[in-house]
Amino acid sequence: MTNCPHCDGPLFKGKPVAVVGGGNSGVEAAIDLAGVVGHVTLVEFQDQLLADDVLQAKLRSLDNVDVITAAATTEIIGDGERVTTLRYEDRASGESHDVALAGVFIQIGLLPNTEFLAGAVELTERGEVVIDSRGATSVPGVFAAGDCTTVPYKQIVISMGSGATAALSAFDHLIRTSAPSADAASRT
Ligand SMILES: Cc1cc2nc3c(=O)[nH]c(=O)nc-3n(C[C@H](O)[C@H](O)[C@H](O)COP(=O)(O)OP(=O)(O)OC[C@H]3O[C@@H](n4cnc5c(N)ncnc54)[C@H](O)[C@@H]3O)c2cc1C
Repeated sequence: MTNCPHCDGPLFKGKPVAVVGGGNSGVEAAIDLAGVVGHVTLVEFQDQLLADDVLQAKLRSLDNVDVITAAATTEIIGDGERVTTLRYEDRASGESHDVALAGVFIQIGLLPNTEFLAGAVELTERGEVVIDSRGATSVPGVFAAGDCTTVPYKQIVISMGSGATAALSAFDHLIRTSAPSADAASRT
């Protein structure tokens, strides 16, 4: 069970997997995985997928993907070593169904742990810290980096890079704000 198709998709090469969640993340994951794994079953709780139309069209063009909507995932079952089954409830009939598979990718959203920043810096409606290309937040002198920000793609290498960006921007901010004024400089 994982949440990263780019990282772990190759581990399931040629095997059946499921993606739980039919928003943009889930459909992007299913499209990505379909090129690597044997078969993808996408399971969405709502009656329809919530992803952008263009992504849904791409998904439906793939012949090794099944989409199941109005399905509440209830259980992920293993044999003691590996995942073997995803169980879901058909929300219309109440019937329980099993999908045999080798892996499950959970794509139902991540919430950044940024409640303590509410009112201090600008956050998106999902709680991500809004930053610019230099890692600057809405408050001068406050910089942010990593998954908790609006940086696209939540991956280790991207978080590390954005950390370096934020640190360099903080240094740049400090040397500019700690410089003596022109008058003071001319008196020395
Ligand atoms: C199951 C899983 C598998 C993944 N696999 C991969 C992979 O194979 N390759 C890849 O590139 N990415 C992978 N990722 C994504 C990767 O883990 C993240 O992109 C990366 O860890 C983000 O780094 P970060 O420093 O921004 O956040 P985090 O690694 O989440 O670090 C945030 C830190 O802040 C601390 N913290 C939180 N709140 C506070 C607070 N109020 N005060 C002080 N500290 C606080 C937390 O304890 C934590 O230590 C995976 C993610 C998951 C969940």
